[in-house]
Amino acid sequence: MSVKKSLILMLFAASAFFVGCGSTNNDDRKTYEAVTRDVFAMDTYMNMKAYGKEAETALEEAENRIHKLEEELSATSETSDIWKINHSNGNEVALCDDTAVLIEKAIEVGSCTNGALDITVFPILKEWGFTTGEYHIPEKAKLDTLLSNVDYRKIEIDGNSVSIPYNSEIDLGALAKGYTGDEIMKIFKSHGIDSAIVSLGGNVQAIGSKPDASAWKVAVRDPFSPDTDMCVVEVKDKAVITSGNYERFFTDDYGQKYWHIIDPADGYPADNGFVSVTVIGDNGLNCDCLSTALFVAGEDGYENIIKEYADYDFIFVTDDEKILYTKGIADNFQNISSMTAEVIAVD
Ligand code: ADP
Ligand code: MG
Repeated sequence: MSVKKSLILMLFAASAFFVGCGSTNNDDRKTYEAVTRDVFAMDTYMNMKAYGKEAETALEEAENRIHKLEEELSATSETSDIWKINHSNGNEVALCDDTAVLIEKAIEVGSCTNGALDITVFPILKEWGFTTGEYHIPEKAKLDTLLSNVDYRKIEIDGNSVSIPYNSEIDLGALAKGYTGDEIMKIFKSHGIDSAIVSLGGNVQAIGSKPDASAWKVAVRDPFSPDTDMCVVEVKDKAVITSGNYERFFTDDYGQKYWHIIDPADGYPADNGFVSVTVIGDNGLNCDCLSTALFVAGEDGYENIIKEYADYDFIFVTDDEKILYTKGIADNFQNISSMTAEVIAVD
């Protein structure tokens, strides 16, 4: 399936549960109709839905913000901050505030996850063809050469000024949509909106609850059958962000699948026991960083990481078809797949 088609499917799955808000209560919020907007940006389909007096203005502002962030953060646009950094030949580059915030965060989560999140994997993503769709399996020697320049600890950032080593390149694909979700939420709140939901290519983020005061129901896809949903989680005021091995991938002549989340330890698609990781929490940026990092950290590495993020909840799907989730969402989690689902204990 093409990337675009799968993104469209993903969008509809993510949105399937937040359409309709039938209610009989006469709460003030109910007097507002839903205002919606679809946007294609950051290589993905996004949709937004908000209730409130200023919803129309809020959506307009949010759309402008999305395009602005895309302009700043896209690794492939020649006018972006990321392009400037990647073509800086080791020299210092002045960044806008958004880019600086994201690089700082990427370094912080990189160190918290023992390098599972490493934004300097970009040359490896390019080598596999994930930036162009012209996929190929690199020679191991080529990956080893590229890996010698992969190390987020060599990024130097001081306020809005950054430098990376000659031959290094970065990309914020693992973080950008989570941050964008947070920024949209800020805009919505500044317009007095207290009921809204957005899906940025399957990354869902909500303000408040549905207008009838019930929780938003967010579907998470089944990584083994990405056209169907695996579970539903009910959330209020939270982001629900997933990294999966079905989001962007290609298969070779033997049916072997290669996906877009790279293990910085060896340069190959991360294959450490998880095929999908969903993170649920207040902060979209943290959720996005963690979903990618935990996908890489895998079954052996996830525990130490989630201990550090006690306010967040997690849903893991293992490559042997088991769902593991944290107890914070146990009351708001419904398994609708044929896989077994069990709560994981975290000390
Ligand atoms: P998606 O953007 O598909 O929803 P993710 O948030 O997991 O999923 O981000 C995947 C993107 O992150 C990749 O397309 C790539 O740009 C980047 N990436 C891949 N592997 C890593 C990694 N180990 N560390 C940091 N970024 C990565
Ligand atoms: Mg991510």
